[in-house]
Amino acid sequence: MRSAIALLTLAFASIGFAAPIGLEDTPSSTVLPGFRSCNRSGVFALTFDDGPYEYTWDLAQMLNSRGIKATFFTNGHNFVTTDLNTTTSPTRDGAKTYVEVLQMLDQLGHEIGSHTYEHSVLVGRTREQIEYQMNEQSDLIFDAIGKRVALMRPPEGATDVASDQILHELGYSNILWDIDPLDYNGSTVDEQFKILEDIVDLDIAGETLGHISLQHDVHPSSVRDLTPRIIDYIRGKNYTFVTVSECLGIDAYQA
Ligand SMILES: [Zn+2]
Repeated sequence: MRSAIALLTLAFASIGFAAPIGLEDTPSSTVLPGFRSCNRSGVFALTFDDGPYEYTWDLAQMLNSRGIKATFFTNGHNFVTTDLNTTTSPTRDGAKTYVEVLQMLDQLGHEIGSHTYEHSVLVGRTREQIEYQMNEQSDLIFDAIGKRVALMRPPEGATDVASDQILHELGYSNILWDIDPLDYNGSTVDEQFKILEDIVDLDIAGETLGHISLQHDVHPSSVRDLTPRIIDYIRGKNYTFVTVSECLGIDAYQA
């Protein structure tokens, strides 16, 4: 036990946390931890990062046609580096601007979260840098749908004590994940699906908390091949698809 506390102390010291003595000093009261799973069993939250991009419109429509609401953690300047008001994407419903894509997501009942404006990793950033990344993206989404986002996912899932505190002050919940099929690393869809399957197959009905899975709507194979496979599999388990706010029982948007 003593060695465990010593290790914990060492771990905090290595990230610069002030003077921890024991477990009671673990930061909790002012810093929101990241959420990794839902607050109950039997539910499943699909989440998509790094868009909007050219596959997002059709993905959202497909999900809608299957009665599924998902959550999109968006960037304003990442895969699309030009004005979202004027740049268009070809969709099955014709050319749409990226702002129109955001508006459609909202109208269909999907949730929109922030993934920072420029996909900026927040660890080690100044307060001004973090506020810029969060406020730019919040303004962009507000201009599109008239709502202030409350859900955020840090790029690479990475925050430190300082950025956690600033995100909390800005009114954000930090949404992480418990399933990452690695849809971005060049693996096959079979390999990606197996990662998810191996985790969900261990679930104990009525006990295991619902999952938050991580995908990227900027990769066509993830959108077109992996997502339908996940839907069929999860439906076969009789789980209900939920948005992140439903998964956690928290607000998706700030008052
Ligand atoms: Zn990302």
